[in-house]
Amino acid sequence: MASKRSRTASLRKTAEQAATTAEEMVKPHGFEFGGPIGATILTVSLPPLVYLFAFVCNDVTGCPAPSLRSPIQLFSNTSTQTVWEHGTTVLKQEVGWPGWAGLISIEGMVGTLAWYALSLALWAVLPAYELEGVELSVGGRQKYRMNSFFSAVTIMIACAAGTWVLGPDFQAWTFINRNYIQILTSSIIISFALSVFVYVRSFDVKPHNKEKRELAAGGHTGSIVYDFFIGRELNPKVNIPYFGEVDIKSFMELRPGMLGWVMFDLAFMAKQYKSYGYITDSMLMVVISQSVYVFDAIYMEPAILTTIDITTDGFGFMLSFGDLVWVPFIYSLQARYLSIHPVDLGPLYVLLILVVQGTGYYIFRTSNSEKNRFRTNPSDPAVAHLKYIETDVGSRLLTSGWWGTARHINYMGDWVMSWSYCLPTLAAGYKLTPMLLYPGTRMVTSEGMKGWAIPITYFYMIYFAVLLVHRERRDEEKCRRKYGKDWDEYCRQVPWRIIPGVY
Ligand code: NDP
Repeated sequence: MASKRSRTASLRKTAEQAATTAEEMVKPHGFEFGGPIGATILTVSLPPLVYLFAFVCNDVTGCPAPSLRSPIQLFSNTSTQTVWEHGTTVLKQEVGWPGWAGLISIEGMVGTLAWYALSLALWAVLPAYELEGVELSVGGRQKYRMNSFFSAVTIMIACAAGTWVLGPDFQAWTFINRNYIQILTSSIIISFALSVFVYVRSFDVKPHNKEKRELAAGGHTGSIVYDFFIGRELNPKVNIPYFGEVDIKSFMELRPGMLGWVMFDLAFMAKQYKSYGYITDSMLMVVISQSVYVFDAIYMEPAILTTIDITTDGFGFMLSFGDLVWVPFIYSLQARYLSIHPVDLGPLYVLLILVVQGTGYYIFRTSNSEKNRFRTNPSDPAVAHLKYIETDVGSRLLTSGWWGTARHINYMGDWVMSWSYCLPTLAAGYKLTPMLLYPGTRMVTSEGMKGWAIPITYFYMIYFAVLLVHRERRDEEKCRRKYGKDWDEYCRQVPWRIIPGVY
């Protein structure tokens, strides 16, 4: 009890000491993500992109659908149909297109809503501790109810019990595998609905209100599409009968989507076991390394209070879609791939990938902890020897240790870890061929397909590099606005942005 209390106290201190000043928070700044045009393109194109991955890599004909290896042939003319009709008919068969109406189902929507209801119920009923966030520009700090680790462990124990009794036929796994596309559509609808809801409600925010509501500095530009995308209100809340007031952003950040990612991984592992009777080392590598990442984030829940997402960005389509659709569906692509095409790595590859994962995790965790510890208790012997700059606004910027090697060395660790999620798929690509001797079954081979699925199973590594570089630029701008000449001095002393000696 005492240790829990002291941990709570030290975590509160982290949030307080790392607090962005209220003055800095309200400073207006220009468009990001290409302004209204970029926001429109992203809002319109991201949902189809997630469907594209879901259909192109499938359990009907292959990953990618075989005809996509030569789209020119696919769209070559035939005597009876137009080029377009012929191409789309073949493609629809190869990807298992369910028709427009088949993209959604009552079962998929009810199951997805039940998942949100479960997350909410656990948030409300399980024991929790309360922390305050950073100083708000309207004055005061918002309180956050923290129990996502407890909640995730409860769900995992229930799933372990279900799997113990029913094996891969446990309903959570069969539901996900049976309704994958319909859960995707339901999640997209929920994320759009939520974005519209918070956008409309943001117009109720009054200056100097007592509810501690405020607009995000970069989120009220007047452009509807841009504000809808980037998020108008910083910390939207909703009062739900019997549950009380829920902070929408922090709830969505770690609960339904992040844990949804692990649930998908586990469902795909169950699918592999059901289809083949065993679980490959590649599948174990992906599921374990991704679960370590998710549970690390959930366990360190208080750390989200000082992330850009919570302190700076409003809650709009970017975070709503990112948290609820992009993370669970795009981040679990490798496990989905391996559920259909089992890859045996062997001890050497396993060891190599473990080294990559361990190196990335070591850099990521020790650098983040070093900064947290320094900001919490600078006299801690682990950080007391580190050099720093005392800035005019009061905070200290580390210039030695991890933070003396690059200004976002933690991003490098995070990116290296992302390799270990993709590498287990090796030179990805498979096709499924019906087995004539055993009607209703298909044989999976990589014949003629090797490497063709690399853009799908390695997409995460590439996308994540882009995200981190872009995020570093945004954070750099924020810090320059906040620290001015002190930040210039930090950049002079630590010239590398993410990878020492390279970038
Ligand atoms: P960081 O944890 O990197 O924090 C950046 C802040 O730290 C700065 O704004 C500044 O805040 C402070 N700071 C900067 N330099 C120093 C220094 N030298 N000494 C002390 N403090 C310093 O930001 P993020 O919120 O972007 O990332 C948190 C973690 O989440 C990262 O490890 C990242 O990789 C991960 N992440 C993962 C994502 C995913 O999709 N998997 C997405 C985004 C992030 P201040 O104003 O307090 O000085």
